[in-house]
Amino acid sequence: MNKLTVKVALVGISSQFVHSSLAPWCLKAGLNAYARVQDEAVVVEGTVNEPEQKLLERIAAQRPDVVGIACYIWNIAFVSRLLPLLKKELPDSIIILGGPEVSHRAQDALDSYPEADYVLCGEGEKPFAQFMDALHGLDSMEEVPGLCFKTAEGYHLSPPFQHEDMQPTPYTEAYFNQLNGRIAYLETSRGCPYSCAFCLSGRGEKLRQVPLERAYQELLLLANSGARTVKLVDRTFNADRKRACEILRFLIEQAENNTIPQGLTFHFEIAGDLLDEETLNLVEKSPKGLFQFEIGLQSMDEATLRLVRRRTDMGYLKARVTQLIGLGTAQVHLDLIAGLPQEGLREFIKGFDEAYALRPHALQLGFLKLIHGSAMREEPEAYPCTFDREPPYQVRSTPWLSEADFKVLQTAEHALDKVHNAGRFQLTLRWLTEELRVQPFDLFYQLGQVILTLEEEKGRLSLEQLTQGLYEALLHLVGEKEALLRDLMLLDRFASTQTTVLPDCLKRKDKRAFVVKRALDRLHPRNNDAMRAVGFLYAGEEEQVVWCDYEGQDPVTGLYPLNVAGVTDLI
Ligand code: SF4
Repeated sequence: MNKLTVKVALVGISSQFVHSSLAPWCLKAGLNAYARVQDEAVVVEGTVNEPEQKLLERIAAQRPDVVGIACYIWNIAFVSRLLPLLKKELPDSIIILGGPEVSHRAQDALDSYPEADYVLCGEGEKPFAQFMDALHGLDSMEEVPGLCFKTAEGYHLSPPFQHEDMQPTPYTEAYFNQLNGRIAYLETSRGCPYSCAFCLSGRGEKLRQVPLERAYQELLLLANSGARTVKLVDRTFNADRKRACEILRFLIEQAENNTIPQGLTFHFEIAGDLLDEETLNLVEKSPKGLFQFEIGLQSMDEATLRLVRRRTDMGYLKARVTQLIGLGTAQVHLDLIAGLPQEGLREFIKGFDEAYALRPHALQLGFLKLIHGSAMREEPEAYPCTFDREPPYQVRSTPWLSEADFKVLQTAEHALDKVHNAGRFQLTLRWLTEELRVQPFDLFYQLGQVILTLEEEKGRLSLEQLTQGLYEALLHLVGEKEALLRDLMLLDRFASTQTTVLPDCLKRKDKRAFVVKRALDRLHPRNNDAMRAVGFLYAGEEEQVVWCDYEGQDPVTGLYPLNVAGVTDLI
């Protein structure tokens, strides 16, 4: 390149507006730290939900000489549509792709996306700076680690690069200006010491950590950025238990000293079988809702886990996860993956029911994806299956799970997501599964069929339509206990949603309503005129009144507190 300095547009494309991509900011920090010519670098953000043309306009407005795009499983289809438009609009700009979605198939990416001049494989901070030096003629392209491109003879290919240590902080004033209350991401460590066969981080990435002092400083910066959630992207936050405890302790102290805003949540991905007494003691002491944990169980079957190169003591893990959830101070999400080796429908359902019995706040049922670079993708003999060749490369069948079995799981997953994971009908679900002993998977499968049928008829369901549909579906499961089903669903409805309007199945005309409401206002006045929902419960021996004032939402469950009194105590 002949210019003395050039302009670089670093493009981050998220799956939703609420996410903010950290990768372009890391590259920008790398340029500042390592590039020999300080070119102007700007970050351009977009989401896959906007028209490509809109993002194109924002990129073109920068008149960049170089466009770098971070590619992931969730945005690669968007990128493939954007690239031809970009090349047409900016024919002289150099386009370079990076990110996990192209890092392990560089040659294929150069062929599939001919508009791209280069693919940068692996971590990018130092290599991207070196690439810019090479553009200025200060280095040779062949020397840039991880850089791949076409040559007259064919291809110049270089394996994915990994830094020895952590990289400069991406958090600058410009970063905070664009964050605008969205979820903030933080990397206090990079890499993972484990080697799960379905995961890219399992390719022997070395674990590297930022010094604790820097982690503290960045946690405080992000905590005070206006974001409601700070998500640590550390692959296994508690891989180093001592360090994890130091960070948790630091955050608890900051919350107690009010140096971080109330209501803020820190989200961590942890290994359940690394939970120890010290961590649990800290979580017990933490302010409610300060922490949120995501635990990838993946499977409840030790033999299946061994086949994907995970070693788990399931008894220990279940005991620790039960303790963690039982503390009630932090929201806990558990993840399962369908499609792992030797796990058929029966085995998966057994594991699902076991995981559900641990009472997680959310149980996420994911479907195996064969991502480029993972052992499962690269060793088809060891991991036989059929899968989509297009992203997100979802597995369609395995020798143990047929396509029809996957459909069954998807049906259950739909209801799980709409009901349990949305925090709806918690008392009803608990009554059905723990007292009436309805098998959890079976329950969600039946509800999933109902919800899908209704959605086919009506499109997206309102909460009224969903409640009515669930009520009718559950009637045949509960036999004569219809009145109790209605009462529990009413309680759930009041606790989870700010509304006084009820669907027909939960409404009961009661001529005492007016008198009861006046009595409640007199005996239990509302604070600050908070909205109040009032209803009657008829299933118990004594008729009762339930009321819910919509304030004081539980920071862990998101539910509003319910109050109950006998009708005769009020009138
Ligand atoms: S799945 Fe989690 S624990 Fe396993 S290699 Fe990936 S990041 Fe590490």
